[in-house]
Amino acid sequence: MSSVIAYIGLGSNLAEPLNQLAKAITELAALPKTTLLGQSPFYRSTPVGPQDQPDFVNGAVSLRTGLTALELLDHLQAIEQRQGRERTRVWGPRTLDLDLLLFGRKVIESPRLIVPHTELPNRDFVLQPLLDLDAELTLPDGRKVANLRAQCPDNALQRLEPGQSSGR
Ligand code: ATP
Ligand code: CA
Ligand code: CA
Repeated sequence: MSSVIAYIGLGSNLAEPLNQLAKAITELAALPKTTLLGQSPFYRSTPVGPQDQPDFVNGAVSLRTGLTALELLDHLQAIEQRQGRERTRVWGPRTLDLDLLLFGRKVIESPRLIVPHTELPNRDFVLQPLLDLDAELTLPDGRKVANLRAQCPDNALQRLEPGQSSGR
C-alpha cells in the first residue's frame, strides 16, 4: 500500500474547544488505512475575519494514510458534521474545523480541494503547530515552514499547557 504523510489543521471556538479537538484527534486516529503520527500542542488565537466571536483553539496532527486526498477530505468533513459543524457565515464561529494542510508533497488544485491549504503561509496558528510537529518541514515548492512562521503576521498566539482551560 502506498501511503503519504498528511498534516491536518484543527480549530474550534464553540462548545468546549479543547474537548472538540481531543475528540477529533481520536476520530482521525481511527480512520481507515491511517495511523496518527504526531499531535502538536494547542494554541489560543484571536479569530480571523469577524471579531465578534470567541477566541479559537488551534492545533495540528500528522497522519500516515493510504487514503486519497479526496477520501481524506470526505472523512474530515464527516467528522466536522458529527461534531455539530454548522455553516453560517464565512470565517464564523464553529465547533470544529479540519483543514487538509499538506498531503505528502502533492500539489492539488481541484474545485473541492486545494493543497497546500491556501492560507497556510499566512497563519501563525497553522504554521506554529506544523513547526512543533516537524521543525524541518518544507512545502512542495521548497519553502521552509520555519521561515514562513518567522515572516507571518501575528495573531496573538498563546500556547496552552496540558490541562490548562481555554478560557481567559
Ligand atoms: P479557510 O479555508 O480560510 O480556513 P474555512 O476553513 O472556514 O476557511 P470551510 O467553510 O471550512 O472554510 O471550507 C470551505 C471549503 O473549502 C470546503 O467545502 C472544502 O471543499 C474547501 N477546501 C479547499 N481546500 C481545502 C483544504 N485543503 N482543506 C479543507 N477544505 C478545503
Ligand atoms: Ca480553516
Ligand atoms: Ca475548513
